[in-house]
Amino acid sequence: MNLNKKFENKICKDCLIDLDENNTNKYSIEHGKYLCKPCEKRRAQKKYIDRKELIREQQRLYDLSVKMKVIEGYGGKCSCCGESTMEFLTIDHINNDGAEDRRQNGKKSGGKLYRWLIQNNFPQENYQLLCYNCNCAKGFFGYCPHNKPDIVVRPTRPKKDHCLTGVKAKKASLLDGSISESEPESREPKLE
Ligand SMILES: [Zn+2]
Ligand SMILES: [Zn+2]
Ligand SMILES: [Zn+2]
Repeated sequence: MNLNKKFENKICKDCLIDLDENNTNKYSIEHGKYLCKPCEKRRAQKKYIDRKELIREQQRLYDLSVKMKVIEGYGGKCSCCGESTMEFLTIDHINNDGAEDRRQNGKKSGGKLYRWLIQNNFPQENYQLLCYNCNCAKGFFGYCPHNKPDIVVRPTRPKKDHCLTGVKAKKASLLDGSISESEPESREPKLE
């Protein structure tokens, strides 16, 4: 069959230009694919991107199912405040030795840690479920305000020092004479 004949009255399905031997792949037209070269390329790129998005979506769903299993394995709620909204929950290293744990047990964090916890049947000694609020508070302050230790406030501390700390506070006190240079500034709370 004459190839030129194959192009007769054929138009690109996408951009509707007349197809000919210059703007169309011979192979495509022989296999009934009525697309000009640029449109064929565009479709291939779109297919590639769609596939990448599909793979990413599958990965996201897989990660989510792993997280759900871990949350279930650790009681489904924050060990501190009882928050049970899945999106707010994360795994906490009870003894704050996450970095050490990662070193010793082959860099587990995120999804890797979650899979490891499932494989090891949710070890309870060093891991617990916390919400991000309780987890961050513990990380920054060493305690969560839900279990706030009694904070002892020095009654003699001058009020204007309130927003100043360390050297700045000392300088300010020296300037207004509320402490003298020789007086040791004890940071220990008075327990009486
Ligand atoms: Zn086209
Ligand atoms: Zn919490
Ligand atoms: Zn808490």
